[in-house]
Amino acid sequence: MKVRFLDLAAGYQELRTEIDAAVSRVLQSGWYVLGEEVAAFEDEYAHYCEARHCVGVANGLDALTLTLKAMGVGPGDEVIVPSNTYIATWLAVSHCGATPVPVEPDIHTHNIDPTLIEAAITPRTRVILPVHLYGLPVDIDRIEPVARRHDLRILYDGAQAHGAACRGRNIGPYGDAVAWSFYPGKNLGAFGDAGAVTTNDTELAERLCVLRNYGSAEKHVNTVKGFNSRLDPIQAAALRVKLRYLDDWTDRRRAHAERYRKGLADTGLILPASPEGMNPAWHLFVVRSGNREKLISALRERGVDSLIHYPIPPHRQAAYADLGYGRGDLPRAEQLATEVLSLPMYPQLEDAQIDYVIGACAGA
Ligand SMILES: *Cc1c(COP(=O)(O)O)cnc(C)c1O
Repeated sequence: MKVRFLDLAAGYQELRTEIDAAVSRVLQSGWYVLGEEVAAFEDEYAHYCEARHCVGVANGLDALTLTLKAMGVGPGDEVIVPSNTYIATWLAVSHCGATPVPVEPDIHTHNIDPTLIEAAITPRTRVILPVHLYGLPVDIDRIEPVARRHDLRILYDGAQAHGAACRGRNIGPYGDAVAWSFYPGKNLGAFGDAGAVTTNDTELAERLCVLRNYGSAEKHVNTVKGFNSRLDPIQAAALRVKLRYLDDWTDRRRAHAERYRKGLADTGLILPASPEGMNPAWHLFVVRSGNREKLISALRERGVDSLIHYPIPPHRQAAYADLGYGRGDLPRAEQLATEVLSLPMYPQLEDAQIDYVIGACAGA
């Protein structure tokens, strides 16, 4: 048997008729930038996220960057980020000219440790930027009081967590805004790059609409030095189809995660935490192993793909050499980077394939 890490084409095949019709509708409309299709997706995704506004942008990194800019973040400012995340979270801060200030994860949840945030706050801190990593919501109720006490804004990075819920409620309406990526491999994935921001803050949404469109709300009137970062209507049309299946596909991911959890219970691997009250979106199923190399080769020998999210934390990347971090400076992030392994996870995965992966892990 061969088990691929991800099979995006299988997702397309399942919805092919509807997606082809949606894409064709845009091609025939003669309208190829912003317009009705983007506005309709924005309405539908805002509704799904229980948020007042959704602003479609070109990708997840821009969703983060433009929101920070719309919040007024600039040179001299600091933004609190997780030390354990994909580098995009940090880059968004850097692209505003501000400094990312890392906070270590809770070793069990892999998410930013709420008890460590307060110590990282300085007079320059403007925003807390937590990530719902692998689709597991951060503990919102332990982060928002810290932000309120220090008069800071919160931007959540929801790139891996479409449809996740914290204490029974979608993560969409929390904080000042949530940045989303619709990169093809994400839980709600487009057929190319795409992203969005959801928010209840009308002023922030208006600023984002201006920033994504050359700094212009009215044609030929440019109020700020904006960007070209608009959600593509072809992607929006496809995303409208896929949004209708998101809950069903997330339920399948949850069933897969449950099957993995039961099957892997006696393997000695450290399984993903399932904190009380959290309903993760299971973007990734990430185990920890003290002997990851052996596990990877045992899986590979049996035809099972696996990936590491992420092998090098942002502070150890050459891109961030300027911040001067050395080995051992953020030990929890570094430890996770040496132990984590992501097993195959996507809605179309079959039970027999999951059982085969479990068998391969048990034999490692
Ligand atoms: C994918 C991802 C991003 C960036 O999204 P793009 O659409 O690829 O720009 C940001 N943050 C996290 C946590 C991600 O996983």
